[in-house]
Parts: sequence; structure tokens; C-alpha cells
Amino acid sequence: MTGRLTAHNTSASMIYRAGWVVCDPWTIYPDGFVHVENGLIRDVGSRTGAGANHIPTIDCGDGVIFPALINAHTHLELSALKGSLSTENGFTGWVQELLRKRELLTSDDLLTAATSALAEMIASGCGAVGDISTLGATWNCLRDSGMSGVWFHEFLGSRIPDIAIEDAPRHDLRMSLAGHAPHTTAPDVLKAIKTGLQRRDLPFSIHLAESGEEVQFLKTASGKWKDFLMSRGIDPASWGLPAPSPVHYMQRIGILDPQTILVHVLHADGPDMDIIRSSGAHICICPRSNMALHQRLPDLANMLKTGVRLCIGTDSLASVESLNLLDEMRFTSSRFPAVSPATIFEMATLGGAQALGIDAHLGSLTPGKMGKLAYSPARASRASDVLNIVIYDTTDP
Ligand SMILES: [Zn+2]
Repeated sequence: MTGRLTAHNTSASMIYRAGWVVCDPWTIYPDGFVHVENGLIRDVGSRTGAGANHIPTIDCGDGVIFPALINAHTHLELSALKGSLSTENGFTGWVQELLRKRELLTSDDLLTAATSALAEMIASGCGAVGDISTLGATWNCLRDSGMSGVWFHEFLGSRIPDIAIEDAPRHDLRMSLAGHAPHTTAPDVLKAIKTGLQRRDLPFSIHLAESGEEVQFLKTASGKWKDFLMSRGIDPASWGLPAPSPVHYMQRIGILDPQTILVHVLHADGPDMDIIRSSGAHICICPRSNMALHQRLPDLANMLKTGVRLCIGTDSLASVESLNLLDEMRFTSSRFPAVSPATIFEMATLGGAQALGIDAHLGSLTPGKMGKLAYSPARASRASDVLNIVIYDTTDP
């Protein structure tokens, strides 16, 4: 069982030691220690010197201390729908059932489930989250939880919203905005949100190239999805479609830059990847959700070959069984055996911190960053095994 230490809450000077300390995927110390002072990492390394004898020490055990994980994409407000939706009628059927069942829930139901999901995330070693909220319900519970990250208020449709963003309560937790997806949200809305965020130096998130329906609509400007939009009083005639691909369309309307997180990206070819890489935008993969809803996985090999910046998220409890990022990492590792544990670990730590714009505070155990530590009791005998053993929660024989 992996759990997060609450080292960031301590105001005192404290040393945490364990069999191994993972500073980042390439720097792993045996018999390691992390010295935290006033909530910040002061020092990290192998074996404390004699000068540290007077500092209180917590011996965590023979397992592994590593940076608190970063779940770059979830929807806490959908936690109350856990286990209640069917994927048998395809993605569209799943979305329709989600909207219908969410309507039946009270805001108390949503918040109670979100609060307990958040507690489970923290208990499983997660220290920061990219939380997407359409109803605007989860900001207060996130702010009061001690979790770091970015809370994205999400918009869709054709009405340009007020760009209302509260000032950040803490440097490691900020409020921002998201567009839902390119086939549900008018380009004028996406551009207005993105422009507002660029002025404030905040990240933007959007689901992209997730479903066949989305791709077909963007490439043809017609079909069932166009009929659906028209039936809702939204005429996409002025959207500038068709486009060669969802990624081309994002580039055309000016959404791609280093502060944009593209979530899923299941339908993208080599030229699409080149566009994303040269824009500096991040891709957030959510493989368990993709498999459940679309029976498809992202082309991770191509993403890595192209050198796209990557992070990882669980998506919501409406499509996966847990918000435990280690479950997502283990699934990813088992589905992509050629991808190294270090790469998967990087996506779940530094990659997520960079995507959310909090890498000055989190993502690695580096002096000056927050002392948010996770601990796994899994034991390794060699440094080269440590990350794999943490991901699979196993112990060397
Ligand atoms: Zn999502």
C-alpha cells in the first residue's frame, strides 16, 4: 500500500529516511534521506551526516520515498457516478447516461463523493491534481484539502463566458479555465478563454481527438454531430471547418502553446505529433479511461519518438475504477512494455508538474521545492529496480 507522508504540513525541521529515495526518475539514492524544513525540502541524499544527529528523524522503513504523484486530469465532481454507467452503448450512450444520471444527483451527493475521492487520492500518494469542473462544484473542497494543482472551470457551447478567476490562494494551487472539446465548444469561446489565460500566465486544458464522432465532424463539418449541434441551436457554419485533423484545427485557431494540455489525443498521426511537439503543448494520456470508453489506446510510442511533452491522468470515476495514479501507471506499463518505468514515472511527476505550471514547487525532490513525499513499502535490492517495484507494488524476492 502506498501512502503519502504529510511532510509538507510540518513547520518543524524533520528528516525522513527510507531504503531508497527517488529525487527524480534518474536520481535514486540508496539508504536515502529527505530533510524538510518549514514545509520545503532543504536537503536530500544518501545517509545523513553526523551534523544531522540533533534533527528529529522518521524512519519510514526499507521501502521507497518518492515525489508525491501528479494526476494531471480528472473530474472530481463525477465521483458520485462511480460504477453506475454502462459502456455497452458506445461513447455517445455513455455521455447521455452520464448527463441523465448527474441531473438526478444533488450538489451534496456530488460534494460528498468528491471529498472522499480526494481523500483516497491523497492516501494513494497523489500530491497535485488537474481537476476539471463543469458545474463549478469542487473548488472549495479542493482548496480546503491541502491538495496542490490547478482547478479548471470548464466551458462548452457557443456563449463566451466571463473570464472570472479567483486569485490563487496558494502558489501551488491555482484556478484556471478549460474548454470541453473542439466539437462541443465554439472556436470563439475557445479563443476567448485561451487569450484570457495567456494574459494571466495560466494553463488551459481541452479534451482532444478522443472519439470517432469528434474526428469525423471536424474533418467533414457534417454528419450526426452537426445535426445534434443544430438541434441544440448551435450552427457550426462559422467554425472554419472542415479541418485536416483535430490537431490542425487547434493550431489553426491558436490554441497550441506550452501552456495548453491536450487530453487523450487518441486520433493523431505523425504530422499531428510534429505540430504538437513544435508548439510545446502537453499531451495528457488517460489509458484506462480510453480503453473503457473507446477500446483504444494512445499511440504512446509515436508520442515518445516525436518528443512530445507528456503527463498522465486517471480521468474520472465515471469511466475508471480508481483515481489512484499508480493504478494508471501500472496499466500503462503493462500495455506498453517497451516504455521504461522511468518514462512513466516522469509523466506522473515532473511531466504533470510542468503541464500544470507548478514545477517550481512539485514534481521532484529538489531542495527548495515543497516537501510533499510519497512512500511505498515495496523493497528493491538494486537502484535499477526501484521504479518498477514502486509501479507494480512488488518486492524483490
Ligand atoms: Zn476528461
